[in-house]
Amino acid sequence: MSDRSKIEWTDATWNPIRAITREGKIGWHCEKISAACANCYAEAMNQRLGTGLEYHSKHFFYDDKRSDKKSLVFLDEKTLLQPLHWKRPRRIFVCSMTDLFGDWVTDEMRDRIHAIMALTPHHDYQILTKRSARMRQYATNPATPPRIWAAVDALIDLWNSGGAGFRLRAIDNDPKIVALADQGASWGGETPWPLKNVWFGVTAENQQAADKRIPDLLATSATMRFVSIEPMLGPIDLERIGTLDTIRSAMPEIVAREEDDLCQNSVSGMQIDVINSAHQATIYYQTPDHMGGFAIRFPRPFPRLDWVICGGESGPHARPMHPDWARSLRDQCAAASVPFFFKQWGEFREFDHETREITLVEAGSDFAESVLAAACNPSWITADGRHIRNQDDLPEHGEPRARLIERVGKKSAGRLLDGREHSEFPGRQA
Ligand code: SF4
Repeated sequence: MSDRSKIEWTDATWNPIRAITREGKIGWHCEKISAACANCYAEAMNQRLGTGLEYHSKHFFYDDKRSDKKSLVFLDEKTLLQPLHWKRPRRIFVCSMTDLFGDWVTDEMRDRIHAIMALTPHHDYQILTKRSARMRQYATNPATPPRIWAAVDALIDLWNSGGAGFRLRAIDNDPKIVALADQGASWGGETPWPLKNVWFGVTAENQQAADKRIPDLLATSATMRFVSIEPMLGPIDLERIGTLDTIRSAMPEIVAREEDDLCQNSVSGMQIDVINSAHQATIYYQTPDHMGGFAIRFPRPFPRLDWVICGGESGPHARPMHPDWARSLRDQCAAASVPFFFKQWGEFREFDHETREITLVEAGSDFAESVLAAACNPSWITADGRHIRNQDDLPEHGEPRARLIERVGKKSAGRLLDGREHSEFPGRQA
């Protein structure tokens, strides 16, 4: 829990989901699920300051005393109430140390966290997950909003009873009226949903992860949707997202309609443009004697991404990001007028031949040798993401789109992309 976060795109972190070991050590729990998790910062922090355990399913038990597994996840009541004490509006990153949609988190925990968010409409909450299917199921389940507003009632009862130790932002002494009004509903028992101050997002480190998770995000009931492409481990084309299977799983009605229009067996692929407002998808088809593709436009307005975050990896085992991947995202967002936030380069930056002074280190060295001598820990990143540390490992005929990079540390690498800071945020929902 931190009221001042070092994460550039948020103001505070809020971690009410905690874990406790049988020995009483308190920390957090999560489980690695994709390539982006390999060097998880939260796991490192948990090993240093929390339970001391790795983020692995073998370290979690479901309140079963006979289990030899090591920790139990719980909702920390004191931390849960923390945003109620914060008067100044903040952007709050929810569960930065775990994944709110991990299967070690119960719906009851999620409901109570959402109840706090409903009761503090002056804050904006940023929820980021890699378990996009569960997020979609939770947010689209018609039973979810009534459960959340029942949790709101329970909190208000606690407050009214005087023993809660917290205050609610109130007009006419009824915080629920404030919360409902700010969420856009009139008094009278409605259960507004989705909450206006909750932003749902997915992490997507490469095209494969984006293809899997962004269709779920689009199908999630939300007022704001964002993607965090960090650590960026491969190029991503936001105008061509998804596969037939991932789109079918998230939005079966869209695929069914296209299959009806064509002939079911002939649809062989589908990709959605998730950043341009003139929403369209590309359908690929195959018949015994022909294959091809054509663009379609959805008949109804369709959600798109409201915000894109991009960043490289930091830490001792950081993997480099190809500079052109970040440039491409920046350009895609600019063309579609989608806010773009470039968070950091991470440990590596591109070697800049133009601005760095190159000294000939010894008589007779050629330009290439001089560049290498001038770079700090030089290596190469190829367009498909291979990190080549030894010049001799470069293919004989070169890698035309490989870039010389240098390991200078996160601070020196900074967060300028082609000399410019990109720190755009989406506007607040009215
Ligand atoms: S989901 Fe996030 S917190 Fe969990 S292991 Fe992966 S990177 Fe770490």
